[in-house]
Parts: sequence; structure tokens; C-alpha cells
Amino acid sequence: MSTKTAIITGISGQDGAYLTKLLCTKAYKLIGLVRGNGASDLKGLDYLNIRSEVIIEECDLLDISQVIKLLYQYRPNEIYNLAAQSSVSLSFKQPIGTFQFNTISVYNLLEAIKLVDIHIKFYQASSSEMYGKVNKLPITENSILHPVSPYAISKAAAHWTCIHYRESYNMFVCCGILFNHESYLRNSTFFMKKIIRESIKISRGEIDRMEVGNIDIRRDFGYAPAYVEGMYLMMQSPIPSDYILCSGESVKLRSIIEYIFQKLNIDKSYYSVSKELYRPADIENIYGDPTRAKESLGWNYSLNYEQLLDKLLAEELQNT
Ligand code: NAP
Repeated sequence: MSTKTAIITGISGQDGAYLTKLLCTKAYKLIGLVRGNGASDLKGLDYLNIRSEVIIEECDLLDISQVIKLLYQYRPNEIYNLAAQSSVSLSFKQPIGTFQFNTISVYNLLEAIKLVDIHIKFYQASSSEMYGKVNKLPITENSILHPVSPYAISKAAAHWTCIHYRESYNMFVCCGILFNHESYLRNSTFFMKKIIRESIKISRGEIDRMEVGNIDIRRDFGYAPAYVEGMYLMMQSPIPSDYILCSGESVKLRSIIEYIFQKLNIDKSYYSVSKELYRPADIENIYGDPTRAKESLGWNYSLNYEQLLDKLLAEELQNT
């Protein structure tokens, strides 16, 4: 079996680390891209003990000449594009930077593939946020996009760009439309990680209380190490297409706090809702239908949100 070469953008992120771990088990030669000047933290690779398995290259994805040079240098079989300004909240504060990076980087990668080797397979990290204003649940691959944040708008633009290259140039481009997925390596600005970290601190008397935004919304949460397996399966499929990866159920954010508080014996009075943390626009309730990925790709996922929270809490307690 010949070794495949894959380039992973956003290797310093949660998904970058878990995807790297998965592809290591499949004997890939791996090149991980970081933005440069030491800005990217590779502690996820260290945590998983796989840093020495990857060649790290600096690359400004907004500069197509740097992308082209890397593709000529490494001649990858597959590119997994995970780099993005990934925070919905931050995108309201930095809408132009979010749109610029999350769309132009995708154009540069696709144009570079077209120029260097049109057979390079491309995975794009699309998001359930693209569906935004939902009128019918569950979300399927055929649901209408109606993004309600700058982040979601950027992801929808990138998503359609990918479909355009697949349809116009017959390129192997697939988009994984992933619903929220979590792990120990999730950045602590994201809801589940923040709740678990701060609850542990409350239980140990290190902080007095926790402030949260709108917790009456519902989201579909899953486990990141299982979701990266879906990314890999999409890229091995004979025909490129777009697939939803999700758990298939939504849970109110308030229930997540109450579940963790109860596990740690914390009284409900230790959290409060701050209107200042509300977003200008939000999705009330969203969950997806993972049937297509399960039936066509053989993707296997069965954790409910309580099992997910148990796993995340146990790993956090082990490491803090
Ligand atoms: P993450 O942990 O926030 O990682 C994002 C990665 O993008 C990091 O490596 C980051 O590098 C890089 N990045 C951000 N801005 C950049 C810039 N201007 N130039 C170069 N690199 C930049 O995100 P994740 O959870 O792993 O998600 C991976 C991808 O899936 C993202 O595209 C995200 O939008 C998408 N997605 C995630 C979820 C989810 O629930 N996790 C759901 C749907 C879609 P630095 O370390 O240098 O900042």
C-alpha cells in the first residue's frame, strides 16, 4: 500500500489535532499548516503525543503564491481545510476579517489545486450554522441555507464556492456540514468547554460564579474525535459529495449547565444570565439528520448528550 500525503490546514485547532491522530493510524505522510510567526499553539498535538508525526509548515492562506509553492513541494493526495475564524461570537465583532479569511483562503486553495494538480482531493469544513433561520427540522443536506451571523455567511459562501468548483471543474471537493462537536481540546471560549472548566473551578472554590448568555437556545452536540472519522470517510468515498455529521438531537444549553452542576454538586445559584453576552441574532433550535453519512459512508455515531458530557467532564477532571 503506497503512503498517501495529506495537508491539513488549521492543524493547531481541535479538529486538526484529532484528524492528525486519525490519519497517523492510517500511515499518511502529514503536513500541517500554521499561520506563522509562532501565532499558532500546537498543544493539541502535544496532548495527543503526535507532534513528531507531522511536518509543520507556515503558510498564509490569503497568499496564493505560498499555497501553490506548498502544493508543488508536497504533491498531496488530499487537503483537509479546517482553518477558519471559527467563533460565531467573534464574527459579530470582526465581520470583515472573518468573511475575508474564511472565503479567500478557500478560493486560494481551490485555485491552487486547479493549477498544480486537479486530482488533489479537497475537504471543506462547512457548518450547521449556515442553516441559521430554520423552518423545518431536522436539517438535511437539502435544507435551505439562511445564515444569521457573519461566521455563517462566510461559511455559506465558502460552501457554495466548493460546490461551484466540483460542478464546474469536476474536482473532488466535499463539504462536511458539521454540527457542534466538542472535546477536551476545544477552545475555552466555546460553550461546553467554558461550562465544564468554570464549573470545576466553582466546585473547587477557585471562582465565585459563572456568567452565561442566552441559554434557552438548543443545539446538537457531538464528540470531535468521532466527527473527524466522518471527514476521512467522505474523502475515501468514490464520489465527492456533501454530508451532515451530527448527533440527531438537540439539547437546551440550560440543561447542560444543570447536568454538570448536578454532577459536581453545585447549587443553581452559582450561574447567572447576562444580556450583555447575548448575540445580535441567534438560532433558537437546530438539530440535524445524520442518516446520509451513516448509510452512504458507514459513519458510526451514537453518543447522546449526557454520555458526551460524562466523557468531557471526566477528561477535564483528569487534566486539571
Ligand atoms: P478551532 O479549534 O477554532 O481551530 C481553527 C483553526 O483555524 C486553528 O488552527 C486556527 O489557527 C486556524 N485559523 C483561524 N484563523 C486563522 C487565520 N486567520 N489564518 C490561519 N489560520 C487560522 O476550530 P475547530 O473546532 O477545530 O474547527 C475546525 C473547522 O471546522 C473550522 O473551520 C470551523 O469553523 C469548522 N466547524 C467547527 C465546528 C465545531 O463545532 N468545532 C462545527 C462546524 C464547523 P490558530 O491556532 O493560529 O488560531
